[in-house]
Amino acid sequence: TFKALVVTKPDTGYSCNFADFDERDLMDGDVTVRITHSTINYKDGLAITGKGPVVRRFPMIPGVDFAGEVIATSHKDWDPGDHVILNGWGCGETHHGGYAERAKVSGDWLVRVPYGMTHAQAMAVGTAGYTAMLSLMALEAHSITPARGPVLVTGAAGGVGSTAIALLARAGYTVVASTGRPEEADYLKNLGASEVIDRAELTGPPRPLGKERFAGAVDTVGSLTLANVISQIKYGGAVAACGLAGGADLPSSVMPFILRGVSLLGIDSVHCPAVVRKEAWRRIANELDRDKLDAMTTAIPFDDVKDKAGYILDGKVRGRVVVEIG
Ligand code: NAP
Repeated sequence: TFKALVVTKPDTGYSCNFADFDERDLMDGDVTVRITHSTINYKDGLAITGKGPVVRRFPMIPGVDFAGEVIATSHKDWDPGDHVILNGWGCGETHHGGYAERAKVSGDWLVRVPYGMTHAQAMAVGTAGYTAMLSLMALEAHSITPARGPVLVTGAAGGVGSTAIALLARAGYTVVASTGRPEEADYLKNLGASEVIDRAELTGPPRPLGKERFAGAVDTVGSLTLANVISQIKYGGAVAACGLAGGADLPSSVMPFILRGVSLLGIDSVHCPAVVRKEAWRRIANELDRDKLDAMTTAIPFDDVKDKAGYILDGKVRGRVVVEIG
């Protein structure tokens, strides 16, 4: 047996507790991993507290990502001793996830920990940071270059937001950070933001077409915020929509799309093809400043993960939280 956090749904309701988990109860997979680190992403907060329908099979070990060492494998790409990262693929939702000392997964889902990066750093990046890189790559693929103007990051002090700021600034963009936490202005500027704005500016009823302010945006908030962002994108610009921290709705109009040629770029980290995620991790290893990564990261012991899960849903987590599993 090994230690795991397990979500169950008996008749009495949803519950999440530490348990001794029998290795034989892990699901199918051709690689067994000794997990050393996981993280808390927004989705993990929803899974642990039961406030969102993330877990779709019970019992379930939550945790959408992990880093660890391969201890048994029949997959052609992996050998015992390899250092691996897993993001998504339904882990923590339909397949046992990262809040456990062991995982058994498909070798096709794994990415190698980049050379020179520790497991802890890989999880400081985690799914949030990898999603931030996917967002940057989507803007680049849409030809949103730094010369076209400033790029806005919403939910700036959160995990995706903090990493997006560091990555965009490093790539040469002028970054505007939108936050509800003005006390984090220095933190955001140290990550690379040129300007910090109050997120309240983006939560009023959106005009169909606002002032053209941003060449692009990485939006982690959704809802009214995303609608306002879309209305303030310059002609031909684009928004990478990756989150719903403020709500899953989108009370927008088609005006920015049909009159300004604005594009809405959908970002999904969970089923993102292996070739794209490998490229994202390669670029993270090369382009994410390790001092900035350290500055946005807090580490907590495995035992604290349950208590901290609610904080992320309340928007109280700054940057990234690494969970030390074993
Ligand atoms: P997080 O650390 O909690 O960051 C979210 C940030 O959004 C908060 O720190 C807060 O930033 C802001 N925020 C929270 N509640 C808000 C509200 N009601 N209205 C406006 N702003 C609010 O979470 P995360 O891990 O970075 O994830 C961010 C979002 O991206 C989540 O919705 C998550 O599900 C999504 N996500 C999607 C993918 C994907 O594959 N598409 C992958 C990873 C994450 P400020 O305090 O700075 O305002």
